[in-house]
Amino acid sequence: MDENQLKSSAKRKVFYITTPIYYVNDVPHIGHAYTTIIADAVSRHKKLAGLEVYFLTGTDEHGQKIEKAAAEKNLSPIELANQVVGRFKQLWQDLLIDYNFFIRTTADFHEKGVQAIFQQLKEKGDIYKGIYRGWYCVSCENFLTEDIPLDEDGLKTCPDCGKKATQVAEECYFFRLSAYQEKLLAFYQQNPHFVRPQSRMNEVVSFVRQGLKDLSITRTTVKWGIPVPNDPAHTIYVWFDALHNYLTGIGYGWNSSLFHKFWPADIHLIGKDILRFHAIFWPAFLMAAGLPLPKIVYSHGWWLKDETKMSKSKGNVLDPRIILEDFGPDPLRYFLLREVPIGLDGNFSHEGFLHRVNSDLANDLGNLVHRTLTMIQNYFQGKMEQPAPENESDRHLREAFNQTKTKAIAFYDELAINRALEEIWSYNNQVNKYLADN
Ligand SMILES: [Zn+2]
Repeated sequence: MDENQLKSSAKRKVFYITTPIYYVNDVPHIGHAYTTIIADAVSRHKKLAGLEVYFLTGTDEHGQKIEKAAAEKNLSPIELANQVVGRFKQLWQDLLIDYNFFIRTTADFHEKGVQAIFQQLKEKGDIYKGIYRGWYCVSCENFLTEDIPLDEDGLKTCPDCGKKATQVAEECYFFRLSAYQEKLLAFYQQNPHFVRPQSRMNEVVSFVRQGLKDLSITRTTVKWGIPVPNDPAHTIYVWFDALHNYLTGIGYGWNSSLFHKFWPADIHLIGKDILRFHAIFWPAFLMAAGLPLPKIVYSHGWWLKDETKMSKSKGNVLDPRIILEDFGPDPLRYFLLREVPIGLDGNFSHEGFLHRVNSDLANDLGNLVHRTLTMIQNYFQGKMEQPAPENESDRHLREAFNQTKTKAIAFYDELAINRALEEIWSYNNQVNKYLADN
């Protein structure tokens, strides 16, 4: 965070952090756990610093993919959602995730909030009705950009998932995104660290500079969604629906004082695959609604499994529950936060995990705790005594502690959690050496 942002959040004494809301067509995997653990660590850090924190997570429950996934299991969409929500909540409990609120996009207050904003933007002229012709990926629930060429079979392939897209022409409502191109560019210029890391900010700016087209934000082919107010043959596109959880999850439309206390968000934590939605569409929707914009969109990397991208089709998706059963929550939390900087991709291997846990937690930290407790037991009958007068090496250790604390806090504020942990472990080793020398 730069100085101004630090000052303004210190003055407000509140801090609002979000994870993306997770799609309920799939069970929780290591990627969900990673994002949520980062948010939890940052939230705990801010609480220790004396801020009042609101940490929001939840589930994205509408759309065609969920309709399909439910049908395959002979369930209704809401039955499938209820099952998967139960698994997410259990996992967060097992991983010691201390969130304030779990939002579900099927909640009545969320649906009403989205409809109210839709109506407001329509009356303002930022949402209008037209005909959309394009190529749509059912799996990603996303229209392909027009620059994607036709395949030999006359179809187009989705660049994100590799599946064939479907050609559609339908009456729909558009959001006037083109009207926000210059406003977005001006906003990025005034807030050059809005998206982090910087490489992602550059990606966003160059995408917007290429020109923004109006965005189709309703469907007539999808039944499982929020109906357009006064035009229920149309349902609201799942992304327009989902992004507004960041407002409805802190009281928009149902608790005005809560909403005004915490909005705008300090950090939207996201995976790099959903950057465009959060760094371009979302600020444009908020500008249209006349609401303040979030301070930071932080895009983290992906976890690879043995250097390969995890995917359901490869069958190499890492289930955090298996690690939890063998090791409990702390080793997994520590490994994911310590192993790589948040903006980069990480590699999860069984050997790497065991090595990190054994060397840092069992050896470095475990030895320190064991030695300290043993000495208190053996030399002081298990009681903490008043300290003896401070000598030279005591003073070094105390000063090193203060330096470590200052550095660790600064790294945490930058979301450089791996660096903060490095500092803390380096101090841990100084204390181990102190104990050996004295
Ligand atoms: Zn796709």
